[in-house]
Amino acid sequence: MTLNELKTGESAVITKVGGEGALRQHFLDMGVIPKTEVTLIKFAPMGDPMELRIHGYELTLRIADAKKIEIGPVRAAAEKDDAAENGTGKTSAGRQKKRRSAAEGDAENGKPDTGKAAARVCHPGFGEDGVLYHDPATENPLPEGTVLTFALAGNQNSGKTTLFNSLTGSNQHVGNFPGVTVDRKSGAIRGHADTEVVDLPGIYSLSPYTEEEIVSRQYIIGEKPKGIINIVDATNIERNLYLTMQLIELDVPMVLALNMMDELRGNGGSVRTNDMEAMLGIPVVPISAAKNEGVDELVAHALHVAKYQESPAKQDFCDESDHGGAIHRCIHGIMSLVEDHAKRAGIPIRFAANKIIEGDERVIKALELSRNEREMIEHIILQMEEECGLDRAAAIADMRFSFVEKLAAKCVVKPVESKERERSEKIDRILTGKFTAIPAFIGIMALVFWLTFGVIGAWLQEILETGIDSLTGLVDSAFEAWNVNEVLHSLVVDGIFNGVGSVLSFMPIIIILFFFLSLLEDTGYMARVAFVMDKPLRRLGLSGRSIVPMLIGFGCSVPGVMASRTLPSQRDRKLTIMLIPFMSCTAKLPIYAFFTGIFFPGHSALVMIGLYLFGILTGILTAHISKYTAFKGEAVPFVMELPNYRMPGAKNVIRLLWEKAKDFLMRAFTIIFVASIAIWFLQTFNLHFGLAATSQESILASIANVFTPIFKPLGFGDWRIVTALITGFMAKESVVSTLSVLFGDSSALLSAFAPAAAFALLIFCLLYTPCVAAIASVKRELGRKWAFGIVLFQCAVAWIMAFIVYMIASMV
Ligand code: GDP
Ligand code: MG
Repeated sequence: MTLNELKTGESAVITKVGGEGALRQHFLDMGVIPKTEVTLIKFAPMGDPMELRIHGYELTLRIADAKKIEIGPVRAAAEKDDAAENGTGKTSAGRQKKRRSAAEGDAENGKPDTGKAAARVCHPGFGEDGVLYHDPATENPLPEGTVLTFALAGNQNSGKTTLFNSLTGSNQHVGNFPGVTVDRKSGAIRGHADTEVVDLPGIYSLSPYTEEEIVSRQYIIGEKPKGIINIVDATNIERNLYLTMQLIELDVPMVLALNMMDELRGNGGSVRTNDMEAMLGIPVVPISAAKNEGVDELVAHALHVAKYQESPAKQDFCDESDHGGAIHRCIHGIMSLVEDHAKRAGIPIRFAANKIIEGDERVIKALELSRNEREMIEHIILQMEEECGLDRAAAIADMRFSFVEKLAAKCVVKPVESKERERSEKIDRILTGKFTAIPAFIGIMALVFWLTFGVIGAWLQEILETGIDSLTGLVDSAFEAWNVNEVLHSLVVDGIFNGVGSVLSFMPIIIILFFFLSLLEDTGYMARVAFVMDKPLRRLGLSGRSIVPMLIGFGCSVPGVMASRTLPSQRDRKLTIMLIPFMSCTAKLPIYAFFTGIFFPGHSALVMIGLYLFGILTGILTAHISKYTAFKGEAVPFVMELPNYRMPGAKNVIRLLWEKAKDFLMRAFTIIFVASIAIWFLQTFNLHFGLAATSQESILASIANVFTPIFKPLGFGDWRIVTALITGFMAKESVVSTLSVLFGDSSALLSAFAPAAAFALLIFCLLYTPCVAAIASVKRELGRKWAFGIVLFQCAVAWIMAFIVYMIASMV
């Protein structure tokens, strides 16, 4: 039987995990490993993907992927486990048993294996009798003044952003990791100037299958931070510690920040941190990032382990009694074999050995093993597979999860019931319910857009516009009064104030839109949207996660493109970014309103809705075509955690909005500033660099005239239209303002071209190149080549579509 045959509410035990390569590793990393119990919670409203509970958390999985996972009944597996005694004890009955034996065995197991004084009760870290971990006799602190760099690593939704903000306050810098466009935020810890915390992307594992994971491990291995702060969601310890164990293997001084303690305690749960420290060999500090509790203690510990370079006291998490010791012996055998290679390559040995077993090509290549050694290692692994009955990747995942289970059994007192969990289930009954999910989604999005564009944003935009207008007027009259040179006057008023001002007035809308979207994201709703929308999007070769950037694109392509960062694969990111411009942004609304008012009065709404739909359909068509051409590649598996709904902290939200505003202002005063001046220049001067008497003589008109033949077949080969389109490249709103300047009144426009041509022009405006700001953000995400390619591609699509529409419309 396979996992997809499970019925809602039923449980089963995984017996075999199929699939291969990246996909399979991803399953394993997320905890889908043999002998684990799974419960099917529900199917998405469209029947795919499904939501499962595994290791105490909620995961999504597509039906097609679920077909690769074989399951057996819970009871039988538990009995077998009891009889055989060598299972990993992940079934309910087996788990109880293992729990007991784990607790007993920990008297020896739990102590750090440094071989030093074991009888004393010692805690790693600072401020306790931590002699075992920090021997004052041999201490060798880093020299004064060394900058203590920390990597902040943890799962998504573990509270990383919250902790990072409370650690660094306002001293943050944002950049990219070298060579890639994954965000790199860093900042000094408040009150400790010679520290730097680098916020690594939220990851679940150190497998090299997403850019985030590669970036994170490259950073830790390559740039060697002085310490790692690993943030762990205490309400979800099993899921989170899987990453912790891999981080410990990197052999960098580390502290564990056990976050969300307020929530765990509030439900009557607790964690025996001393036991946990002993089992993991690193300091464990319970905190609540949101309430700023325990953060000072965390900082003290982090500074201490980094200063004294106290590496994790324990890395050996394989159990000698597990699977008859097969996995344990395999790992240690390979560790001995590759020790010299690992040292030479600068890769921690335990990490190297585990990654070799998992088949991690990057590590294997970096180690430069000889053919003989490779063969030897292969034999060791084959032997292990035979002995434990698990394949290599599953065996390593099993080793980690077995340890985590033991740790959880010994150290974590789970709440009987979690208020947050129950609340989430109730909310999900509506938001991912079979009949309510889609209406709820449409309702919420409509509400967000209505509030953003209709209520709050529009109101703020009006205020800002009035402000800018009066400032412009003020400067205008001042210049007039002071008899400022006419050209300079025009540059400042018509160029800079007009250009930058028209874009600046969009800031409130963008900020408000970001406010709502971050609210949806941080509460956990976006994960649900992705879950609900995965099926239709997969038809387009995308995954559910792409829905978010595309939705934002209806507001403005710029934040849409930026939001695509959350997508797990480059392929999905590129395709999504390519589709965003097809989602008609709000800046195009004035164009539609202007033209439909003149050419199709009485049918405005109809034409506008038609345009939006036409954009979406063209996007769908493009996605379909690229699925079979440029974007063949492997679709990423949709294995995603559905976190509990949580209320985002006000401080976080405000900080985010401030960042966005800063970002936007920076852009407005760089790119848009320069572009406005350029357009003004081209509009004001003629080819001999004298002042153009009429706009027809301007350089802009001369340039436009070069392009008019291109637009003849579309019915609007008029230089004024072409000029308007060129200015629309700067900001879509300019199309209308340019046309009104060049044509004067609407009757001139009406007589200039036929309704069929007007229709074609609307289609062209809908689809042609995104504005400069959007192109700039594409360039920032994907590079110059892509930005350029997208401009050309969009223009080509727009031309073809406008041509087709013109032909059809002319015939009617
Ligand atoms: P990230 O995805 O790891 O960056 O996590 P965030 O910092 O965005 O936090 C995810 C959610 O958990 C947000 O809604 C936070 O407000 C919430 N959160 C973070 N830390 C805590 C905490 O200590 N206690 C509680 N109850 N919630 C928290
Ligand atoms: Mg975050």
